[in-house]
Amino acid sequence: MKIDLTGKVALVTGGGRGIGRSIATTLGACGATVAVVDINMTNAEAVAGEIAGARAYVCDVTIAADVVALVDQVEKELGSCDILVNNAGITRDGLLVRMKDEDWDAVLATNLRSAFLTTRAASRGMMKRRWGRIVNMASVVGIMGNKGQANYAASKAGLIGLTKSVAKELASRNVLCNAIAPGFIETEMTAAMTPDARTALTGVIPMDRLGQPADVSGAVAWLASDLAAYVTGQVIVVDGGLAM
Ligand code: NAP
Repeated sequence: MKIDLTGKVALVTGGGRGIGRSIATTLGACGATVAVVDINMTNAEAVAGEIAGARAYVCDVTIAADVVALVDQVEKELGSCDILVNNAGITRDGLLVRMKDEDWDAVLATNLRSAFLTTRAASRGMMKRRWGRIVNMASVVGIMGNKGQANYAASKAGLIGLTKSVAKELASRNVLCNAIAPGFIETEMTAAMTPDARTALTGVIPMDRLGQPADVSGAVAWLASDLAAYVTGQVIVVDGGLAM
């Protein structure tokens, strides 16, 4: 059976590059009409240009009023919002004792508050239509913790709690909510690693390599499809075996 998302509209946040770009193109290749959302319009337009029928939207997903306007606009222009992928995320790493308040707040706002805002806005239509899929991009760091990433780990652990609560609230309306916890994936987010750090990290990954964005987007497409119609409230770990 092939993954077929024909007739579904997918909104992907942080779709302008990295994992979000791969998610947008994969969902588009499966037949979905894609709303590529990013804080950077140039990147969003470039990605939307690669996907038949896709549209680019600029939005800072930490701003409540902008998120409400975004979901409204997508529903008006593309017809609905059936699949929501909360992928936008940032890091502001630093040891706890030196972490600035603004680095804590920025990471929690971008990685966690945004998912609350988009889910609240998009779930109304999903409930009415009795069909919806929400996929939150967590991280193995939200399960295992990580030195220097107290803010990031807390945001990703928070996303897992949000996922399970939303799953319980919306399951009876056939709106499913799951999280993906990637390990270390080759994107600009991980590009800053030194060669030594990369070698050390690869050494503890049973599959002996970092992941590719496509490793994550395949899991998103599956969760968004009817092949996963009885899966909700789960955290799917995509990490080459790192966190087991
Ligand atoms: P990335 O390459 O840094 O891409 C993140 C995208 O989100 C960028 O296009 C960025 O725009 C956008 N963005 C940031 N803040 C935003 C905001 N307020 N509103 C709208 N868009 C915003 O990151 P990635 O590696 O693809 O990661 C994607 C997701 O996977 C994140 O949630 C990340 O935490 C998670 N993840 C990544 C890894 C990994 O190893 N890469 C592992 C586990 C989980 P700009 O280009 O303007 O910054």
